[in-house]
Amino acid sequence: ARKQVIVVTPTYNRALQAYYLNRLGQVLRLVPPPVLWIVVEMNVASTETADILRGMGIMYRHLVCTKNLTNIKDRGVHQRNTALEHIEHHKLDGIVYFADDDNIYSLELFETLRDISRFGTWPVAMLAQSKNKAVLEGPVCNGSHVIGWHTNEKSKKLRRFHVDMSGFAFNSTILWDPKRWQKPISPSIRQLDTIKEGFQETTFIEQLVEDESQMEGTPFGCSKILNWHLHLEAREVGYPRGWLLQKNLDAV
Ligand code: UDP
Repeated sequence: ARKQVIVVTPTYNRALQAYYLNRLGQVLRLVPPPVLWIVVEMNVASTETADILRGMGIMYRHLVCTKNLTNIKDRGVHQRNTALEHIEHHKLDGIVYFADDDNIYSLELFETLRDISRFGTWPVAMLAQSKNKAVLEGPVCNGSHVIGWHTNEKSKKLRRFHVDMSGFAFNSTILWDPKRWQKPISPSIRQLDTIKEGFQETTFIEQLVEDESQMEGTPFGCSKILNWHLHLEAREVGYPRGWLLQKNLDAV
């Protein structure tokens, strides 16, 4: 049987939300099942998101995170934790992948997730903050062995692993059956909300693996870009005037 892919997406209401959710959902629809899309919103499940999910034709769970935001920079952190709790509580079996709604993903990426045994990582293409230059973040590999890291200029030397949020995936059983992975029974694995920006990923990953030897670089040689994290935020795109065209639509 094919391994289940569990895609976790925090989302929130903004101008391009429907565009992002449709774009990601339609890629997921092309991935051979089983695929489970866990979409998490803050405070309330919006009817707009519910409508998009219902019409997408894929398996999904629409969850709500009710934790109070302590820091505006905790973008998506508590929502991802809500999904992790759900996966742990229901012992969902599959490969967990954090897919933010605004990134671009190839179909091939989701297919390669199924080859991951414990923890897989791969390079992600990004735009550098200052120059409009594409850079990579993620593993340098010899076959599937991780032997080093591409870093971008934001990277701090102190980071243990230079991985983007959309550049790794892991076996969900690490969350609810750690003994299987020779991990001591530890408190629940969660994203931490008190750490400096830029350290979210490495701090989380340090809970899943000891070091590079427990990682699988993917696809073979880590020589292919399968997704892009370009920071093309919605706020730079204005609403067209008269966005609500109710009257015109009715007239058609
Ligand atoms: N996000 C969210 N609530 C927020 C801000 C972000 O749910 O208040 C989600 C967003 O939809 C995306 C993820 O968190 O799926 C990452 O957000 P963003 O793209 O702003 O982070 P960046 O790409 O800048 O790291």
